[in-house]
This record gives sequence, C-alpha cells and structure tokens, in this order.
Amino acid sequence: MERSFSIPISRRDLFKLAGLTAAGVVLSGGSSHVNAAENTSGDTIKYADKKIPVLGLVDVCICGGGPAGTAAAVNAARNGVSVGLIERGIALGGLGVLGCVYPFMDTHAPDSDTPYLAEVKERLRGYGIEPFDGVTGQTWHNPETLALIHDEMCAEAGVNILYQAVLVDALKSGNKITTAIVQTIAGLAAVKAKTFIDATGDAYLSRMVGVDYERGYEKTGNNQPLSFRFEMGGIDTERLYQYVAIDLKEDWCKSKLPYFEIAEAMHRKQRYKLEEFMARGVESGELTQDEAEYMQAYTIIGKNGVMSMNCPEIPVKFSATDPISYSKAVTFGRKMMRNIARYLINHLPGFENAFISREAVMLGARESWRVKGKYYMVEDDYHNQSRFPDAVCRTAWFIDAHGEKVSEKLPAGGFYEIPYRALVTDKISNLIVAGRCISASFILQASMRIQPTCISIGEAAGIAAAYGLQNRIDANEIDWANIPAYKRSYVSQG
Ligand SMILES: Cc1cc2nc3c(=O)[nH]c(=O)nc-3n(C[C@H](O)[C@H](O)[C@H](O)COP(=O)(O)OP(=O)(O)OC[C@H]3O[C@@H](n4cnc5c(N)ncnc54)[C@H](O)[C@@H]3O)c2cc1C
Repeated sequence: MERSFSIPISRRDLFKLAGLTAAGVVLSGGSSHVNAAENTSGDTIKYADKKIPVLGLVDVCICGGGPAGTAAAVNAARNGVSVGLIERGIALGGLGVLGCVYPFMDTHAPDSDTPYLAEVKERLRGYGIEPFDGVTGQTWHNPETLALIHDEMCAEAGVNILYQAVLVDALKSGNKITTAIVQTIAGLAAVKAKTFIDATGDAYLSRMVGVDYERGYEKTGNNQPLSFRFEMGGIDTERLYQYVAIDLKEDWCKSKLPYFEIAEAMHRKQRYKLEEFMARGVESGELTQDEAEYMQAYTIIGKNGVMSMNCPEIPVKFSATDPISYSKAVTFGRKMMRNIARYLINHLPGFENAFISREAVMLGARESWRVKGKYYMVEDDYHNQSRFPDAVCRTAWFIDAHGEKVSEKLPAGGFYEIPYRALVTDKISNLIVAGRCISASFILQASMRIQPTCISIGEAAGIAAAYGLQNRIDANEIDWANIPAYKRSYVSQG
C-alpha cells in the first residue's frame, strides 16, 4: 500500500505547516460547509471563501485520539497504510487520560483481550506499573504513563499525530468523505484521506456528514449523567484502608493496597459503608444531596498518595449534548468537586492532608451521540449473549446506565459480541465509527462503553481500514469474517 496519496508530497512533509496563511481565521464549523470547498491546488484548498493548507494526505484519517482512536491509528499504521490522527487535546487516551477516568474496567468476558489491548497492558508493566491486582479483572493504569505509551506506539508505527487540532467540519464527494477540516494552533487546515474513522466519542465526524444518529435515552431524552473527575494527592492510603476496610469492615474492594478503592452510590441500594458517612454531610449542610449521592476513589499505581476520584456526578438536568447546558455543568461540577474534596479532607481518616491535585481537562460524558449503523445493537444482544460471524470483540460489562438501569451481570463465562456492521453505515462508504459512539441503543451502549471494549473496537477499525484500502473494498462493505483470520484481532466463537 502506498504511504501517501499520489499528489506529490513527501511523507516527511505530511502534517508539516507549509505556507500557512490562514492563521487566526475564525472557527467556522458546522455542516453548512459540507461540500463548500473546491480543490485549488495540491497543497491548499478553498474552504468557506478562504484558502487553507492541506496538512495531510493520508490513507486513513482518524478523528479523536481516545482509547478507540489511538488503537485504530496504531493498528491501521501497523497494517501498512499511512495514518493521520487528529486530537483536540495534547495527550492520547481520551477520557482515560484527559478525563481522569481510571482504571480500565473488567469486561467480565473470558479471553476478551485483543492483541493490541494486551500489548498496552504489557507496556504498562514495562514502565513499572503492574496493571493487575491479582483479585479483580480491572487494569490499574497510570494516566501519564498511558499517554507516553500511546505516543511511543504511534511513533513506532509511523502515525502522524496532529495535536491541539479540533475537527470542525468535513467535506464530501458523493457518499465519500474526502477531507477533514481542522482548527489547528495556526488556523484552519485540511486533512485529506481515503478512509476516515470517527473516534470522537461524540460521533462528531459522522454527524457532520449526515449520518443518522441518536442521543440520550429514548424514554426520557436525557443523556447519561456527566461527571467532572479529578485526582486528590496527599492521601494517607494506609490510614484510609485501616478505616474503611478494617474498622468499617467495608468489603466492596476485594484487592489490597496499593490497589484500593472506596465507593458509595446511594441510588444503587448497595448499602456501602460510606453511605452513612456522606449522608452525615447532607445533614450538617456541608454537602448537597447531589454531592453525597455518588462518590468513588481509586488508588493510582505509580502515584503514591494520589487517588482518582470518580465524582462528582453532575445532575442529569445538565446535558452532554447541549453546548450551553454542558458549559454550565462544568461550573456546577467544579463547585461540587470542591465541596466533596473539602468534606473528605475534614472528615475522612487518611484525607487530613489531602488536596485537589488535578482536574480533568475533559468532562466525563458517558454517553452523548450514537450513530445508527448497518447493525443497531440493543439490550437483547446483552441478555441473549448474541454472537456474530463478523464480531470484532466480546464483552460482558453489565448495563450501567446511571440513574436509569443497572442490569444483573451475565452468568460466569457469558458474553456478547459486537459486529463490524455496528461500526459502519449505509450513508457513507469510507467511514468507520469506533468507540462509545458506535451503533447501539442507549441501554446497550451503557454496557459496551468501557475502555477495554472501546480499545478492541478501535483496534478492529484500524485493521479493517487498512484491509479495505489494500483490497479495494469500501469500508462499509467489508465483511470482517472474510479478512484472513491471522490479520483479525478477534475471530468470532459464534
Ligand atoms: C465519568 C466516567 C467514568 C467512567 N468510568 C470508567 C471506568 O472506570 N473504566 C472504564 O473502562 N471506562 C469508564 N468509563 C467509560 C470510558 O472512559 C469511555 O466510554 C471511553 O473512554 C470511550 O472511549 P472513546 O475512544 O470512544 O472516546 P473518548 O474517550 O471520549 O475519546 C474521544 C477522543 O476524541 C477527541 N475528540 C473529540 N471530539 C474531537 C474533535 N472534534 N476534534 C478532535 N478530537 C476530538 C477527544 O479529545 C478524545 O481524546 C467512564 C466514563 C465516564 C464519563
């Protein structure tokens, strides 16, 4: 496979800012510009009445460098195609890094690790981060180490990363995407590709090009609640462990230090031992009911005395898909964060000298927009443990739709599979969708959204993108089952 398009531009020049004149142009996103550009030359295009540089001419352009997008990028590049990865932050890993979401949950499905996912875990170990606690199946990573590993894997595979680059629009020709329009540090620019992967989590690319989508729960219209995650440092974890695990006899966390978790979620009726502790904060007026409702914290391996806080959970009236409501959620969530931290510092043994050491730079959206693809996954796929010949991975994480539905776990050894057809649509022939915004109902997405599953989906998307180009098959016509088994990251056990 060629390493770049036929337009004569050396691979070394890909993503190099060449002759950029449009620096500082006002961001002018929105689908109104789809098809509004015309080619003016090999290295510039006309877009919204401006001449903007073409920063990349690649085989595969991946939008969003979260768990799914990074996996897609590395796997496409390893399979012999040129890859551009567009990420609006300055670290890869998405919610797992920018959103302080930690650790990778256990899929609860036997043998669910696809090769790339297993390699990421192995590389953590190489940096002295032992990801396994010996009891649970979760992966205790370390966000900064994960970001470094992602950079290294991309560099080794030859992925061109464009950081601090926001996808704002996309251009189409017929039913194909031709160009991503990106707001870079220097202004608007274009990235051209043959195949595109939407790994934005928010189905942003798909929505820009007219793919059908859903958002929120069909019964309420609400998205899953947002969370504004953070980290606290200065914690005496031995003292915390003594108080929660030994004095209170809370047996929620089965693993022992340095792998330790505290949790309470009032609406789940699990009767966690810390529920009373948080309720006392409401009685005293130090916490609101919303702040007391949900609190969870995990030790972070390699960051002694630091815990990853899976809270505050922001009331569901704040929307993950309305820009004004979302912005208000940030302000509201930051205040909740401060109150929860203060309460823990003042009252929870081990937190006496603690402080907020890091705020997420990405609000935690569990669910926002989801595409409607060739296959639409539904709750029955979970309960029926569906199998598909074109399955790209398996998972069995329970249905975890906060505030709406929490399912029973599947019986031990049970799992369902995710078909490649849930990653592609009838509308756009050269688009693959990866990660939490694939074609699934609100309730099913609440199970498949965990990071390991998103990584495995991304891994398959990258492999398929390369395979399609090398075999001249449109991305949405690829039959994953026809890809030689040795190339596939997952073969259905159907
Ligand atoms: C509060 C919370 C707690 C969670 N807890 C866990 C947990 O404990 N364990 C677990 O495994 N999973 C957990 N999850 C789920 C998991 O983190 C996500 O579902 C998963 O990260 C989704 O991966 P993704 O790659 O699809 O998207 P994301 O992680 O959302 O990544 C998307 C990436 O695309 C980038 N992007 C978006 N739009 C653009 C654009 N226009 N231009 C350029 N870049 C863009 C973003 O910056 C980001 O890097 C949690 C989620 C939340 C919100």
